[in-house]
Amino acid sequence: MHRLWLLFPLLLLFSARPAELVGIQVRYTGTDTTILRAMDRANLVMRHPLFYKLLQAHTDTFDHSNVNGEMLASYFQKEQAVAEVLTYKTLTRFSRSTAYTSFDGRIFINTKRLDRPVDDVAITLIHECVHVLDSRTRGVWMGHGSNNPKGKSQTAPYAIELIADSVLRSIP
Ligand SMILES: [Zn+2]
Repeated sequence: MHRLWLLFPLLLLFSARPAELVGIQVRYTGTDTTILRAMDRANLVMRHPLFYKLLQAHTDTFDHSNVNGEMLASYFQKEQAVAEVLTYKTLTRFSRSTAYTSFDGRIFINTKRLDRPVDDVAITLIHECVHVLDSRTRGVWMGHGSNNPKGKSQTAPYAIELIADSVLRSIP
């Protein structure tokens, strides 16, 4: 009997796993295979410890924002939300717009701009998740002003694209 009781805490110790990082996730229920695969990749990144490690290393406040990487990481992790992904299409595929987020926090992907690698689309989804968090979090701003990406690499949505890219490269 004694021995069993000794074993019990040991078993607990070995079965304990590090808590999974589940923050915001995206959900697409349509049939486009590129978006479906991009959704899986984006969700994988947003649960990945490296994503949070790289984000937290961004100690400066982002441009056009009052948050730094550590704060943004906490918003990502605290937000137990699922952002719906829907589609729209521009008239031509020459539009610069790949996606946008509505005021109620739904992500719209431009189906005319899906002729690119799945991980690229996943990065777009993660960029849009910053806008979703922005719309859900009071007292903070973390956008990028106009839609011209020039000179915006230090804003939260664009800085996170580089971070997401590094994480995606580390997970085949
Ligand atoms: Zn944006």
